[in-house]
Amino acid sequence: MNSQMRKILRVIEPQIVLEGAGVKLRRSIATPLLDYLDPFLLFDHFGSDNPSDYLAGFPMHPHRGIETVTYMLDGMVNHRDSIGNSGIIEAGDVQWMTSGRGIMHEEMPQPRNGKMEGFQLWVNLPAKMKMTAPRYQEIASEDIPEIIRSDGVKIRVVAGNLDGVSGPVKEIVVSPTYLDMTIPENSSLVYSIDKDSTAFAYVIEGEAIFEAQCARIVEPVAYHKLIVFGEGDYINVLTKEKNVRFLLISGKPIFEPIARFGPFVMNTREEIEQALRDLREGKFV
Ligand code: MN
Repeated sequence: MNSQMRKILRVIEPQIVLEGAGVKLRRSIATPLLDYLDPFLLFDHFGSDNPSDYLAGFPMHPHRGIETVTYMLDGMVNHRDSIGNSGIIEAGDVQWMTSGRGIMHEEMPQPRNGKMEGFQLWVNLPAKMKMTAPRYQEIASEDIPEIIRSDGVKIRVVAGNLDGVSGPVKEIVVSPTYLDMTIPENSSLVYSIDKDSTAFAYVIEGEAIFEAQCARIVEPVAYHKLIVFGEGDYINVLTKEKNVRFLLISGKPIFEPIARFGPFVMNTREEIEQALRDLREGKFV
């Protein structure tokens, strides 16, 4: 069987957007440049040294038709929702939430030691699961396994399986893989990804060559860029004088029509109008 290295299809420069009550964040999926990457609907990177960029937070707002994965690197997020959950997502923790037919929640970022940084990924639900009951789970940092390979490559497995280790986020309907990878300088990593999965990387720090092959000069991609990988069954990442840390996210596409309006992602316009009507008439949750 021939194996094929995945090449870089696109490198996306995140756009600065204001979201919630005025949180400044970097958005790289769900913009005019990249509407969605089936099954992924949105990818936000929030964080700043300036608390006024985020303290306004995301007061009570609805969601329908999606699952969200929030992964924190620094600081924390205070949250509460309409199904009775509340808590604090701390640095290194992950929270996933299935909105199903409807949830209302509040997400309020706070600094710790002056820092706050994290990511939110929206994963689509197949049509037959969009109106299921909302649910939610929080996973503490110490319950996220970290693989440290002999060559110094470190991989936190948030979701998916690697080296016989499986990540704690298992209930997302499309079973995505979500890895936080660090490769030291002057090293490389070959990593297999199912041929039929969509795959992207988001560089958090440093830089790397994300399609390393002999006899071809490929420019490194540096931090705060999103890389969309093309077809194939593995990626080959190479570092030179700098290390790299990136999120590697993959999952199988759903191939269903998408109708979206803010926090609602359904299959048709009628379903979006129904969500707005339910919200207006107090029948949402
Ligand atoms: Mn939300």
